[in-house]
Formats: sequence, structure tokens, C-alpha cells
Amino acid sequence: RQCRRRHALCPAGAVPAPGREVADLCFLDGEARLHAYETVKKQAARMEIDPSHFPRLCDEVVREWREWNAQLAITTPEVESFTLLERRNSMAPRMPEADAEQEALHILVVEDEPSQRMLLQRLLQLLGHKVDVAADGQEAFDIVLNKRPQLVITDLAMPGLDGLQLIRRLRAIPEGRQLYIIVLTILDDEDNLAEVFSSGADDFISKPIPPRILQARLKAGQRIIQEQRSLRQEQELLRRHLEELSIDNQLAQEAAQTDGLTGLYNRRYAMRYLPQIWDEARLSQQPLAALMLDIDHFKVVNDEHGHDVGDIILQEFAGILRLFCRRSDIICRFGGEEFLIILPDTRLSTAIQVAERIRATLANRSMVASGLALCLTVSIGVAEKKPAHANVEALIKAADQALYQAKRSGRNRVEAAL
Ligand code: GH3
Ligand code: MG
Ligand code: MG
Ligand code: MG
Repeated sequence: RQCRRRHALCPAGAVPAPGREVADLCFLDGEARLHAYETVKKQAARMEIDPSHFPRLCDEVVREWREWNAQLAITTPEVESFTLLERRNSMAPRMPEADAEQEALHILVVEDEPSQRMLLQRLLQLLGHKVDVAADGQEAFDIVLNKRPQLVITDLAMPGLDGLQLIRRLRAIPEGRQLYIIVLTILDDEDNLAEVFSSGADDFISKPIPPRILQARLKAGQRIIQEQRSLRQEQELLRRHLEELSIDNQLAQEAAQTDGLTGLYNRRYAMRYLPQIWDEARLSQQPLAALMLDIDHFKVVNDEHGHDVGDIILQEFAGILRLFCRRSDIICRFGGEEFLIILPDTRLSTAIQVAERIRATLANRSMVASGLALCLTVSIGVAEKKPAHANVEALIKAADQALYQAKRSGRNRVEAAL
């Protein structure tokens, strides 16, 4: 029924619903049932029915069918649960035919003897593989670089670059490290084999090559190549996952560092980061200055025009601060309408000039918010790093005391710490 419901949602011409096929499954058993089940599951997957939900969906159909039959007093035949069928199938050892599904390989045959080379090429092609051939080690090396085969079958004795030299060279480059390499040998005495394996070969076959042995050795290679590939895919997935995580992390970190209203650094971030700036200034014996700013009578703005207008003013004020600061300066919203600016490599006199420019700019222009033009002023305290300051908090405190002085002296003023 659910299949039919999905079908109703399908556009015209879509794959027909496998509803009837599901019903047919109930009257099959053994291999036939399993085979038909797999086919219907594939059809269902094309209709976006999740294959992992499919056995439960079928079981649900059978359950409803049994209920209806009971209502109508019809006997229902015994049907084995599809969930069980699925589980048994997934645990069953792979059928030998399934090996036939193993995909074709791209193989390079390296053999100096032309008839042997052609024989092996034919045989591998008959087994369904894509085959390149080389007559010596050097040619083989070039083909690996240019055509990137997955598996190499190489003779040992060849003119020029021989088999062992070829393998050592291949193992030394990234393109050759993943290759599965089978050596053709006539001398299968142990000393030679030890040398073959220590050069980096994965397997060997003695000549003349019995086709069944070749097929068996290829299967072993195929399995390893497939495993390596799925490992690489998993690594790639993991890498992408980590990348996404680190982007998420970065965004979360940025959100935690900044003030939501103005986009300036927040106080928590400043207090964590400033000790580092302080240490740098101290070690390099460079000056460091701090500005503490507080908008005058800001409460009035809120009281008279509302909190929303107050918020817009705060955003505009943050914009003015950015205008007068360098990239290396740290501007922070310290509290409600209170801001802190740390100016690295800046002396008191310069800091006072910066503060004065900010003050004058605000005093000489009106701020526009929600169609209102408001005149506001700011009081600023300025301080410079002194030997008497134990840490950055002491510098901030000095700027804050200067700010208090500016407020007491009538606001709209810049005062410097003594
Ligand atoms: P003073 O000149 O002495 O600094 O006077 P003031 O009114 O600016 O100082 P006070 O500390 O009394 O008031 C600060 C006001 O800032 C109180 C509060 O309503 C407002 N405020 C603080 N944070 C925000 C905010 O995020 N948005 C808005 N709209 N107002 C805020
Ligand atoms: Mg040879
Ligand atoms: Mg204020
Ligand atoms: Mg205040």
C-alpha cells in the first residue's frame, strides 16, 4: 500500500510501483524468493525507498495482509519475515559467482619475450581485463607514469632495466607505491624469492603460467586493490568531514569572540587575547596605549526614542571607531555603551590624537537612526603602558580612571592618565 501511495506521488512516466512484485514475493521461496526480493529492492531504491527500510516495509505489507485475511476469514500462508531474509542474506558467505562481479583491472604486462608477452596479454584480455604491454623496465616505468595501471605483472630477466630494478624504482615514487606487483619467475628457489619480495613485489607466479593459478593470484591482487581503494575513499570522507568540522569550529569561535550587535570583539575575547598583546609589547619594548570610551547620557536616547534606536546608534558608533583605527588595533565592546580600544605600538600623544578625532567626529555630526537625527557626545580616557603597570588590566584601569575624570570634568572630553 505504501508503494502505491508513493506511486501516486510519482510524476507520470516514473518507474511503476513494485506493489504487485512485493505480493508475488510472498508466494516464492528459497533462492527464487531471495533473487526476486533483491530485484524488487533495487526497483524500490529507484523510487527513493531506502533499501535499509525495505525489509520492514515488506513485513508491514505482510502483516496488514494477514490482518485483512483474518477479517475475511481467509487463511494466510506462512511467510518468512523479510527482515530475517535480509539478515540471513547479508551474513551468508559470498557465492563464487559473486566473484564474477569483481571489476576488471587495468594491468601492465612487462615481458621481453614477444610470444610470452602476447600470450599473457591475450589470456588477461580473455579474463576481461584492460591490458597494456611493455618490453622492458624502462618502457614499463613510463607507462606506469602515463597510464596509471592498477596491477603490474613483470618478468625478472630483461635487457636494460630488469624486473627487480623496475620494482625498486616504482616503489620509490608515489605513483608506484599503490601498485600491486606480481613477478614472473622461472627460478622459484628461496634465495631468489627473498630478493623478489624485499624489492617490493607483492606476489610471484612461476612460468609457464597455468591460467587457473594466474586467475587465483589476480583475485588476491584484486581484493587488495579494492580494499586499498575503499580505504582511500574512507580517508577522503574523513578528511572532508574534518574539514567541515573545522569550518564549523571556526564559525563557532568567531561567534564566541564577537559582539552580536556591533560585530566588534566582545569583552570576554578581549580579556583573553589582550595579555598576549601585552607580553608582545613588553618583550619588544614597544609602547602600547588604551582608550576607554563611554557615550554620554546614552540612557536618554533609550528613554526618549526606544531601545531599537539606541541599538542603531551603537552600531553607527562602532562604525566610527573602525574608521579611526588601524587593522592592528583591537576594538572591543566592553559593556553596554562602553568601548575599549587597544593600540599596539602607539605612544600616549598619538593615542590622544586618535581619541580627539573620535570625540570631535561624534560631536560635530548627528547620527541618523529611524529617521531621527541625534546629537551625541562621547567621553574618552587615554592611558599608556608604564613600568608601574603589572599587567594589561592595570593599563585598562588607568584608562578607565581617566574616563571617569573626563565625565567629572563635564563630558565630551578626552582625558589622559597621569
Ligand atoms: P553617562 O554620560 O554617565 O555615561 O550616562 P549614560 O546614560 O550613558 O550612562 P548610564 O550608565 O547611566 O546608562 C547607560 C545606558 O546604556 C543604560 C542602558 O539603557 C543603555 N544600554 C546599555 N546597553 C545597551 C544596548 O545594548 N542597547 C541599547 N539600546 N542601550 C543600551
Ligand atoms: Mg625475460
Ligand atoms: Mg554613558
Ligand atoms: Mg556607561
